[in-house]
Amino acid sequence: MPTFSELGLGVDVLKAIEALGYQEPTPIQQQAIPLLLSQPTDLVALAQTGTGKTAAFGLPLIDQLDFSAHDPQALVLAPTRELCVQIANDLTKFASCVRGASIVPVYGGANISTQQRALRQGAQIVVATPGRLLDLGNRSEEHTSE
Ligand code: AMP
Repeated sequence: MPTFSELGLGVDVLKAIEALGYQEPTPIQQQAIPLLLSQPTDLVALAQTGTGKTAAFGLPLIDQLDFSAHDPQALVLAPTRELCVQIANDLTKFASCVRGASIVPVYGGANISTQQRALRQGAQIVVATPGRLLDLGNRSEEHTSE
């Protein structure tokens, strides 16, 4: 059984994993993490809820972004508001030892201006529900065409 370190993750992410108390990678993490770290690739990973899918995608994502830059580098789409918030919370934990990391959830039913302000402050990862993402895109187009 490989360790998280053997999968190729860097020190900041390893510290966060230790703080979370994860002892060893789950099967989907063992398969996905080395692949996502080694090459730019499309990946469809199917596994049941509770198998560690969020970390299988999220840990290598955090490992590879440039958090010294304050612009969006990753977009995560979530089908519901609850999942959107949960994924953003998980990613925030995975990035807890990374200086300057900002992960912003945007979803319907909440104040759009507050979310726009959070985005403008320099999020590197945006976690969005599809409807709110389209609303934000449309508003930004209106803004630039004014
Ligand atoms: P998920 O399938 O992404 O919803 O994850 C289910 C739960 O397992 C979450 O509470 C995670 O924090 C936790 N988890 C993810 N990876 C591991 C791991 N390697 N060891 C222990 N718990 C984990």
